[in-house]
Amino acid sequence: MENKNINPLTAGTPVSALSGVGVKRASLYNKIGIYTLGNLIEYYPRSYINYSQPLKIQTAPLNENCAVKGLITKKLPAARIKDGLILYRVIIQDDSGLMTVTFYNNSYTYDALKLGEEFVFHGKMQGGFIRREMNSPSFVRASSGYLIKPVYRLTEGLTGNMVITNVRYALENISKNYYEDCLPFGLRQYYELCSFEFAVKNIHFPSDENSCAIAGKRLAFEELLILQLGMAVRKNRNRQMSSCKMKPDDDALREFCAALPFELTNAQKKAAAEITEDMCKDMPMNRLLQGDVGSGKTAVAAAAAALAYKNGFQTAVMAPTEILARQHLKTMSSLLSPLGINVCCLTGSLKAKERREINEKIKNGGYHVITGTHALISDTTEFEKLGLVIMDEQHRFGVNQRAMLAGKGENPHKLVMSATPIPRTLALIIYGDLDISVLDKLPKGRQEVKTFAVTSKLRDRVFGFIKKQLDEGRQAYIICPLVEEGTNEAKAAESYAEKVMKGFFTGYKTGLLHGKMSGAAKEKVMSDFKDGEYGILVATTVVEVGVDVPNSAVILIENADRFGLSQLHQLRGRVGRGSAQSYCILIAGEVNEDSRRRLEIMTKVTDGFKISEYDLKMRGAGDFFGERQHGLPKMKIADIGADSGLLLKTSQAAKKLIKNSPGLELYPKLKAAAEEIFVRSGENSMN
Ligand code: ADP
Ligand code: MG
Repeated sequence: MENKNINPLTAGTPVSALSGVGVKRASLYNKIGIYTLGNLIEYYPRSYINYSQPLKIQTAPLNENCAVKGLITKKLPAARIKDGLILYRVIIQDDSGLMTVTFYNNSYTYDALKLGEEFVFHGKMQGGFIRREMNSPSFVRASSGYLIKPVYRLTEGLTGNMVITNVRYALENISKNYYEDCLPFGLRQYYELCSFEFAVKNIHFPSDENSCAIAGKRLAFEELLILQLGMAVRKNRNRQMSSCKMKPDDDALREFCAALPFELTNAQKKAAAEITEDMCKDMPMNRLLQGDVGSGKTAVAAAAAALAYKNGFQTAVMAPTEILARQHLKTMSSLLSPLGINVCCLTGSLKAKERREINEKIKNGGYHVITGTHALISDTTEFEKLGLVIMDEQHRFGVNQRAMLAGKGENPHKLVMSATPIPRTLALIIYGDLDISVLDKLPKGRQEVKTFAVTSKLRDRVFGFIKKQLDEGRQAYIICPLVEEGTNEAKAAESYAEKVMKGFFTGYKTGLLHGKMSGAAKEKVMSDFKDGEYGILVATTVVEVGVDVPNSAVILIENADRFGLSQLHQLRGRVGRGSAQSYCILIAGEVNEDSRRRLEIMTKVTDGFKISEYDLKMRGAGDFFGERQHGLPKMKIADIGADSGLLLKTSQAAKKLIKNSPGLELYPKLKAAAEEIFVRSGENSMN
């Protein structure tokens, strides 16, 4: 094949420079994200067809995919059957027996199979003991030397063979310096990684299974390493000197602790220490506080606010909903007003006059801790001296909202809080640009929520149990069945309340909460429930994360088999917030093995971090993250969820490299790749 281009091929050369790639094929390549030769070479196979270990025709297992090797001993004449279908048949032989291979309407293939030549076929072995056959198998010439054939993700019009030809040509003709290794030699030796050249050639055209594995390991390592270096680059960028550097004040913290109605857990103490230390550094804090529902994040946040106050700074605490904002107001004032700290709450539902008055007092420094919703970032709100911003349920806010709140001060410290535990190894990656504190133990005396999984046959008994709880003065959540897409969610919830619950709960007041309600209506129902207006809250899955109704002691989840583990755990977190023993009852119909296992895990495990690890393992990283909600770049080869060992190794390697060369100047190729990675994925910075 001739190179159309007289210039040497480089990673940046457009694919259209390859012979055989015209405008049409180039546009097909573009469709799957391939523009340059670099893109093409890094378009790694999805899987392989392995012709390298053929079995014997006669003993290969029936109805399984396998490879067999044989001579073409006979070619039957093409046979036309109905509907214009033409059968092409050839007979293959090895020393164990014969096999008939059939192709439909494919004379090209038929012609390629030359009499007397040896081929390896891969497909499902069918037939019986006497007569063996394969329909439309894939095949290669036995002498081809490429017995492990790559399989690519394709798009209509682009065949596997086209990609194979183009990739092979690119690999053979790209200029030598493309193969220069981005990984330092010492690092490769330490982690036993092959060279880039070996890796990239063998990932496409491995000579055997082992080379393929070695290549894959090296490329996945490189990819995860670059991801983590990218995170580190991002972490250091945007970091300017803090104008809110504070002085440590042990007395203030002692005073704060003395005024608390409880003793901080060790986890809380550690997190509070990490946070307050950050606030006294030259660079502004950028930290995530992760902890299961009920782990006591608010008290930690309050400790930080107390230090800010002592240093003359205001703290803003933003929550995604009014009810959560008001909950913060309540908790923060109870914890902080003994220290003379004035706490207020700014939300959209305030009357104009009230809002003006509060804004006035925020501006002149009369309020020290300002809780609220998005109202905090409106133009009319100005702070006297904002030194710390705290965001609860950080995933509910966009990058812009976070930036806008921080923009109300001069490079204030930032603390984001999340009640969605994710496995530690993953947190390293996803939140690589944040420092992380973890509350991994619930406060003492908190009772574990007892969890049971039952079939719908037992629903009546479960209802009876709930009734007993209500009679004892507790409250209950009932999460009603999932509705089909397009079905009216409101109707479904109502009809569940009317039909299924009917008769059982007459005389008990029931609230209804579903996704079709306006934000204000939802909040009203939630706060009425909180105030004890309803004994039962029938809800679809919209039940607010983080809402604290300590008196609710039971949650019943219908269709529990259809939820993921993390979601079930989130729902379960609605109860167990008070001193009474709480219960979570999972109702499921016919369940498959996967659901059965999920339900079993729920009944046995209460630690959110452990649950998230199971969840990740069972679902794989793709599903776990949903639609790339964390803004991670798409991985070419590494499976973030599958290999936590590799994650840890690469994280360790990234730290070493940065220690050696903080700006990565010593590793220009890695530096360029690390800087590029988030440009490619579209920025989703936590900053
Ligand atoms: P979350 O992490 O879900 O935001 P909260 O901060 O709302 O948790 O705390 C949940 C409840 O636990 C609150 O009622 C709070 O007063 C209480 N709490 C927090 N820390 C402790 C502690 N160390 N000991 C006892 N109770 C605590
Ligand atoms: Mg909370």
